[in-house]
Amino acid sequence: MKAAIVGSGPNGLAAGITLARNGYDVTVYESAATPGGGMRSNESLRSGVVHDMCSAVHPMSVVSPFFRETDLAKHGLRFAFPEVDLAHPLDGGRAGVLYRDIERTSAGLGSDGRLWKATFGPMAANFDKIGSSVFGPMLTIPKYPLSFGYFGMNAALPAQLSAKRWRSDEAQALYIGVAAHNLTRLDTPMSSAAGTLLTAAAHVAGWPVAEGGSGSIAAAMVAELEELGGKVECDHEVTSLKELRNVDAVMLDVSPSIALKICGDELPARQRRAYRNFRHGVGAFKVDFVIKGKVPWTNAEARKAGTVHVGGTADEVARAEKAAAAGGLSDRPFILVGQQYLADPSRSSGDYNPLWAYAHVPAGYRGDATEAIVTQIERFAPGFRDIIVESVSYSTEAVQDYNANYIGGDIIGGSSDMIQLLARPIFAPDPYFTGIDGVYLCSASTPPGAGVHGMSGWQAASRAIKARRT
Ligand SMILES: Cc1cc2nc3c(=O)[nH]c(=O)nc-3n(C[C@H](O)[C@H](O)[C@H](O)COP(=O)(O)OP(=O)(O)OC[C@H]3O[C@@H](n4cnc5c(N)ncnc54)[C@H](O)[C@@H]3O)c2cc1C
Repeated sequence: MKAAIVGSGPNGLAAGITLARNGYDVTVYESAATPGGGMRSNESLRSGVVHDMCSAVHPMSVVSPFFRETDLAKHGLRFAFPEVDLAHPLDGGRAGVLYRDIERTSAGLGSDGRLWKATFGPMAANFDKIGSSVFGPMLTIPKYPLSFGYFGMNAALPAQLSAKRWRSDEAQALYIGVAAHNLTRLDTPMSSAAGTLLTAAAHVAGWPVAEGGSGSIAAAMVAELEELGGKVECDHEVTSLKELRNVDAVMLDVSPSIALKICGDELPARQRRAYRNFRHGVGAFKVDFVIKGKVPWTNAEARKAGTVHVGGTADEVARAEKAAAAGGLSDRPFILVGQQYLADPSRSSGDYNPLWAYAHVPAGYRGDATEAIVTQIERFAPGFRDIIVESVSYSTEAVQDYNANYIGGDIIGGSSDMIQLLARPIFAPDPYFTGIDGVYLCSASTPPGAGVHGMSGWQAASRAIKARRT
């Protein structure tokens, strides 16, 4: 049996590995020059300084059932853990701080600590049960209704409202900064989903980075695929299903709009409508910095954190996300900063360190958000500007040029509004099936959505295997 995979992101490679394990002869076609999709790293600015081009922090990889059952350590993949998983600095040197250890996190949150532990402790303890539902289509009967119900209750609330359960600025900001990974308005139902899941995951396995850069995950997945007899062909854009004849399964690790073009007239009317109407969310404006020395965060824990959320109080973050969703850029946008080199010094060259940052901006934003990013970081780390040695900025257009799946700079494979969280890209018992025999969509535009977890690929490939057997 033969399988063709279009796209070598984490989901394409996971689909390929799953099919190869089940006896398929797999070829992955990748339009870019190197494999990995959102898992690539490079040394574009200064030799020896490694930048993650897209994904940087990997809580989803270390808890993903696909990654857990795939021994990538034998191909050299190692995760490195920062001393502090996440810091969310506030004015006056304060910060909300997240550690893998829930006791330590709670202790740092003062009188809010007890409620933090009561909220996330049960989810962390039952993460595998919750995972059995959230790592696949949501519209199914949960295997563990109690655990899933508790998670769902927390995930369903608007994040801005949910944050108010804590009293301190620190706990509110810490919570809402993680919720902002949804890249959506934080006053809408289910805008707590990402925050709830990622915070629970932090208390299970931390927020690690891949040693040597996220590209090491791609390299290990390719090595695993090759060991199973599969291969990856780069510089090969697939434009039509007609190019992929004589295969038993086709996995499309692409956005619905690209799937629409590839499948053309073969796509049934229902899927065509759903793919055409699929909504993309706000964009990312990314800046890679080379800095001399370390970021002079006023807060001491932020100086040790792998990830820093820069956006001020919960209300400020919610306002910035609302503005981006409405098409305007706040003068204080929400920014994610990655200090991967703290856990993985192999990415640095002497005293020169890579700093990874991106702001949430309106979809297709045409302006330059570099100065807004520098100013926001400077607000919590005075003197930051002086340590910048070099930088390169990627507009939403450049982000999409880098990876065609990132429509308008949307790095999460489609808006995570309530409807698309529950049913993406189509309301159907099998949202992966394109309606064409043997052809499946397996990108982050299918459940469980964005992130380096490989679960969309694993889910789609498992369905293809099952359909072939029945
Ligand atoms: C700036 C940024 C920061 C991020 N941070 C994180 C993070 O810290 N942690 C995390 O877990 N996730 C993060 N993500 C998201 C994560 O990278 C994605 O959710 C993930 O890569 C999606 O995987 P995928 O397999 O669905 O698709 P992709 O990784 O997008 O891969 C799809 C591949 O398909 C190829 N392709 C598209 N069309 C064709 C075609 N017609 N023919 C052949 N090939 C084609 C593309 O070139 C690409 O290589 C980030 C993304 C970005 C951009």
